[in-house]
Amino acid sequence: MIDLNKDVKYVKGVGPNRIQLLNKLKIYTLKDLITYYPRDYEDRSNPQNICDCEDGTEALIEAMPISKITEFRKGKMTISKLIVKDQTGSCYITWYNQGYLRNRFIPMKFYRFFGKVSKKGNRVEMNSPVFDDIEQTKNTGKIIPIYPLTYELKQSTLRRIIENGLSEVNGKLDETLPEYILKENNLLDINTAIERIHFPIDFSEYNKSRDRLVFEELLTTQLALLKLKNNYERDQNGIAFRKDVKMSDVINVLPFKLTKSQLRVLEEIDNDMESEKSMNRLLQGDVGSGKTVVAMISAYKAVKSGYQVAIMAPTAILASQHLESFQSILSQFGIRCELLISSITKKKKMEILERLQNGEIDILIGTHALLEENVLFKNLGLVVTDEQHRFGVKQRATIATKGKNPDTIAMSATPIPRTLALILYGDLDISIIDELPPNRKKIETYAVRKGMSERVNQFIRKQIDSGRQAYIVCPLVEENEELGLNSVIELEEKYKNETFSDYKVAYLHGKMKAREKDEIMEQFKNGEIQILIATTVIEVGVNVPNASIMVVENAERFGLAQLHQLRGRVGRGEYQSYCILKFEGNSETIRQRMKVMCDTNDGFIISEKDLELRGSGDFFGTEQHGIPEFKIANLFEDMGTLKKVQKIAMQIMAEDPLLEKEKNAKLNELIKSKFKSRIEI
Ligand code: ADP
Ligand code: MG
Repeated sequence: MIDLNKDVKYVKGVGPNRIQLLNKLKIYTLKDLITYYPRDYEDRSNPQNICDCEDGTEALIEAMPISKITEFRKGKMTISKLIVKDQTGSCYITWYNQGYLRNRFIPMKFYRFFGKVSKKGNRVEMNSPVFDDIEQTKNTGKIIPIYPLTYELKQSTLRRIIENGLSEVNGKLDETLPEYILKENNLLDINTAIERIHFPIDFSEYNKSRDRLVFEELLTTQLALLKLKNNYERDQNGIAFRKDVKMSDVINVLPFKLTKSQLRVLEEIDNDMESEKSMNRLLQGDVGSGKTVVAMISAYKAVKSGYQVAIMAPTAILASQHLESFQSILSQFGIRCELLISSITKKKKMEILERLQNGEIDILIGTHALLEENVLFKNLGLVVTDEQHRFGVKQRATIATKGKNPDTIAMSATPIPRTLALILYGDLDISIIDELPPNRKKIETYAVRKGMSERVNQFIRKQIDSGRQAYIVCPLVEENEELGLNSVIELEEKYKNETFSDYKVAYLHGKMKAREKDEIMEQFKNGEIQILIATTVIEVGVNVPNASIMVVENAERFGLAQLHQLRGRVGRGEYQSYCILKFEGNSETIRQRMKVMCDTNDGFIISEKDLELRGSGDFFGTEQHGIPEFKIANLFEDMGTLKKVQKIAMQIMAEDPLLEKEKNAKLNELIKSKFKSRIEI
């Protein structure tokens, strides 16, 4: 048997230098290597007559040199020229600095050349083509895979290494899907699929191989999620909260009227809470749609039914904000809330832990600190995780074990089209808040190029002079030469000492200590800081209603969902707010992405567009959810397969909820090897 987990360094053609480059691409094992799929293909299998070659296209010709290579020197450069012909015409080939080709070609013998054609009148030229002897198929004569690569590793090098890897496994891979699934769905066997996805003989073969691999990938994910759900539901007996505790008691004292969506969602939660089945619910709603108050009202129900509640937020700032809003409403009902974050004193922490265990705290709000082992509740009944994309499946599970099957609500401001949410969160029931509270002003968004910087700065000054505050967001903490991105620190210096030297400027980034971050955030909230330069640490939930302008540097580096989240930091008060996206690059996709942001404030539309423009990517933060990134499936293109696979997965699970039957053994293994430690299955 072949060992797919063997280190890729033992594959032929991988030396000590290349191993590092491969590792950079997350290729560590033989398995990683052969499942490193091409992102595109180039058809080098159809030869053309020289006279038919079109200007600007890539073409394969079969032709013979009419003489040997002639060489010139131009400064330091060596230029090699070769004239070749077929029955229809001649082609003038040029290579640069390839002196070693000097004696490569024998006149009047046939070779294949593949490269970009340029035509000057009737003269056909080709620059730097790849080539083969006529009986060879190293670089031509077939469909060639193009891999996603960094510039350090050459396509031809990786191609050869993958070829070597494939010849090691050649036909010897164990089938990964059960026989009956292959048959019923008319899928290729694993050996053919893997071989042909890299080196398809024609495109129909490629399609069949891809279908099989996409099917497997999506089925594995679906089954894993459903199995997780079955695991929850097996230990039924959740908590039935009291029917005579009325959510309306809190609703009636709120300073605003809930939206229809909020009321509908609360009803769904109320029903779940009163039933004995334990609730696992995803609460989705766009930035600013008012999820916090829903959590608060649910918490009220739990506390008045005699249980404790845990609210977990990804940052200390956010947790403190929640504490504030909870207390402002719930203290009048005699409900006791506390804050547990890592920056509190040891003494205070010990005291909180003790009161928690004695049941003297009703609602504990905090950060990851809640996950620590010594945090023990008396009777935890409801767990809420805010901005759940910041937590993994595992962390959600950990906090839930601090009670006996507590009900859980995971809140997310990443709007996902419902169809997809059902699939990606197969393990959760879903509630959606799909409207914003009334009277919200649209955030005016503009996409501009670097050349406009001075005008943008002028605009910031004008806003600040009229009393507002500004965020400037950039992608990284340290200067990244390779990408030429602005770093927070460098920008801060420039903005602080030059551009905005007469304003109060500070910066905030993820590598700062929690306490420092909180301090700066506090100062920004109080208006002591006018311009806050930050990385995406401010993406999540921060509420400073006086901030009315956000500038995003290198906006093309961010995903649309992230831009949408960032933008949600402004427009939280009574002032007209603005978002300015500074971008570089000319690609059509970049332009379209910027346009989407300018055209709409609706997170659901943005998420659909993002899906369309990017396929899947990290938009869903699937990696953080504990779901490995898709290697081949594209959630947009493969929506059809996804739906089909979901049906199949449900049938399988209905018949064999824990995948214990012999015929499903392979499926169980697939899930295990793919999800490994990510999910306790
Ligand atoms: P998110 O869903 O992004 O977490 P929040 O819960 O922070 O949003 O709510 C954003 C703001 O809207 C808060 O200041 C909150 O008090 C307010 N809010 C929530 N619901 C309503 C409503 N129905 N009417 C008016 N304001 C509301
Ligand atoms: Mg929120």
